[in-house]
Amino acid sequence: MAASPSLIDTPRQSWHARVCEKGLRTTEMSERSWWFIRTRWNATALCFLGALWAMLPPVRDPPLFMVDYRFFLIVGGLLAASNHLYTRMARNLTADPHAKTRLCRFLSLQVLTDYANLSLLTYGLGGIETPILILFLPHIILLTLFFSRAYSFIMTWVGILFASLPILLEYLGILPVVSIFDATRKMIDVTSSLVITSSYVLGIIAAFLICWYLVGGITAILLLRERQLELALQQLQRLDREKSQITLRATHELKAPFAAIKSYVYTLRDGYCGPLPDKARQVVDRIGERCDLLMEKISDIIHLSNLRTATPANTALSETDLLPILAKEIDDARLIGEPRGVRILASLDMAPCLIQASKEHLSTMFSNLLRNAISYSHLEGAVEVTLERRDRQVAIQIRDHGIGIPTEHLEKIFEEHFRSNNAVRFNPNSSGMGLALVREIVRLHGGQIRVKSELGAGSRFIVTLPA
Ligand code: ADP
Repeated sequence: MAASPSLIDTPRQSWHARVCEKGLRTTEMSERSWWFIRTRWNATALCFLGALWAMLPPVRDPPLFMVDYRFFLIVGGLLAASNHLYTRMARNLTADPHAKTRLCRFLSLQVLTDYANLSLLTYGLGGIETPILILFLPHIILLTLFFSRAYSFIMTWVGILFASLPILLEYLGILPVVSIFDATRKMIDVTSSLVITSSYVLGIIAAFLICWYLVGGITAILLLRERQLELALQQLQRLDREKSQITLRATHELKAPFAAIKSYVYTLRDGYCGPLPDKARQVVDRIGERCDLLMEKISDIIHLSNLRTATPANTALSETDLLPILAKEIDDARLIGEPRGVRILASLDMAPCLIQASKEHLSTMFSNLLRNAISYSHLEGAVEVTLERRDRQVAIQIRDHGIGIPTEHLEKIFEEHFRSNNAVRFNPNSSGMGLALVREIVRLHGGQIRVKSELGAGSRFIVTLPA
């Protein structure tokens, strides 16, 4: 798989990027920062809900505990404001494919903002009195996903500092003590005890470092496996391309001598070498038919190989009205369907339907789908063609009421040479290449193909193309 520009790592990186980055690609970092922002909106909503909850009148009188709703409101407000700013920043960064350094800084900034907000919430909820500190742990996990081992270690220590800050400042008397419990019920003023304060801080250090160590190890292994899989996939794709090229070359080499054989057979059959006895003529006719089939297969193989190596970038797509192309293929298909009494019902609104496409490819695609629908229809059957214009999309549906496709074969029918058993009985001479060609053409046009089918009742192929 060729690396797209956005996947290429920037050659020149600042010390910050070198120290903090985990070997992620710019796109991966950008996805993570968007995910982080989306998650923060949920946290913001929870804070506002928390404020509402804290405003409710207490259930018991006197209340067991009292939470100051203003802390929730302030933290929710800060989160909303910072997230609004981050959304705008993320848009700019996503547009820049080489923003790795900036993305590293951006993610660090987001983590620091969350630390500060959590620290404030911890203070407002009485520090040691509630388990709110647990909320720091997801950030430690995220650090190991975002950053290098060394950088996530440093940021874990920053987290420890923020988590311990409220109780330390309370202990040092810099901040007034906030408690959610009624002062008279408080068994012990924890913030004035050095032993409790220091064991509490040591507990935080231990919990955060254990979390960093365990999750960091796991994410490093996962990232390594992901990279190994990517490499293996690239190798497989390269081998597949090489295999296709060899097939293409071999098939090309077969084509010329085969065309010569075919023309000799036709020369014999058409009597240019003198009249043939009846028996010999029958044999030559059969050879002629087989030659036609083989030539068709050779052309399909070459066509498919060419399509496989093509990309949307190196394919000449131009603004094309697909309606005349579809209408012409329908006319041709009517002629093919006539001998078997298969009718084609199409009600098309003929207003231009412009898409970026290759006329030749579109013809091949419609022709294959229509021929299949006719081939696998019962005698005197009907094939319906509809075209639906959607917002920025056009959907073409070709529906028949024929033999249908077994459910277990629905995934496989787009593979080259695959033919389901019921189809082989119905149409013994086909090659099993048509849908493989269709799939490649749809891919080249940035579209999608879906199939719905019921065995014995018919099939529906729906192609959607960007308009
Ligand atoms: P073929 O030349 O064999 O039709 P395709 O690649 O076009 O090759 O189709 C692959 C297989 O998909 C067919 O052999 C058949 O089993 C199934 N198939 C495709 N279109 C239809 C259809 N309209 N109805 C039933 N089966 C179909």
